[in-house]
Amino acid sequence: MTRIRSGDSSMIDDRRGGGGGGGGFGGLGGLGGLPIPIRAGGGMLGVIVLLASLLLPRLLNGGQSAASIPQQQTGTGVSSAGSCNSDLEQIVCGATVDVQNFWQANLPKFYGVNYEMTKTVFFTDATSTGCGQASSQTGPFYCPIDHEVYIDLGFMQALETQLIGKPTDLAEQYIVAHEYGHHIQNLVGINDQVQKAQQNDPGRANQYSVALELQADCFAGIWVGDAASRGLLDSPNEINEALNAAAGVGDDRIQQKTQGRIDKEAWTHGSAEQRQTWFTRGYNSGDPKQCDTFSEAL
Ligand SMILES: [Zn+2]
Repeated sequence: MTRIRSGDSSMIDDRRGGGGGGGGFGGLGGLGGLPIPIRAGGGMLGVIVLLASLLLPRLLNGGQSAASIPQQQTGTGVSSAGSCNSDLEQIVCGATVDVQNFWQANLPKFYGVNYEMTKTVFFTDATSTGCGQASSQTGPFYCPIDHEVYIDLGFMQALETQLIGKPTDLAEQYIVAHEYGHHIQNLVGINDQVQKAQQNDPGRANQYSVALELQADCFAGIWVGDAASRGLLDSPNEINEALNAAAGVGDDRIQQKTQGRIDKEAWTHGSAEQRQTWFTRGYNSGDPKQCDTFSEAL
């Protein structure tokens, strides 16, 4: 258990129980082949998701649906007070605060750009975002248009149980840090550059996507390394929780689990090995300049 847990809900927008539903996310289920819609003109334009949405229905049909996971709701409806009570909430809330404090302190030094504080949105089932209507089945994601991170906690935990095994503090926190890595890419202009490059070179759109995702992993590693240096991890071995998570959401692992075969052409996030490699590079270096996934992946 990390010492990153926190009851601070100041950076949380809790929409659970707020009736964010409506089921208007039909377009997401039909993304087959386009799990990363940042290059697509669909309803979720611009969304950067952690996991391929196409695999989720299979996982849900696999027996352990999100609905069967105890929801982490506090029963306080949409009020932000009390949003960070349960173990899972405190894990995610702690990462939301600590990741942002880290980047606020370091982004000017790294990139000459000021950090912009934003929020993690908790929702269940569906919610409206600046990138369109989102459903839980998108997985945790960052919307570059409204600059917010969206997480359905119950669904995320169910998904991680499927892909990684027992969810642990640093597995969850790595995912939060990965999403905030996309916020960094957005703030410093990398996201825009990648979208333009994808439009100019559609044949390599997936490779750009993989590079973007691996860089977010590297940025997550930078933060975890900093947290470790501040004594917030229980032991050096705790890093394995994040490494296991990074491997568990590797495209090859997901494809093997859901399709029974590996199709490298369809990768959008990178292999288990690539994700671990880039996370580790960030962790060891603490330097975003070492996270130049683009020159290596393209
Ligand atoms: Zn991502």
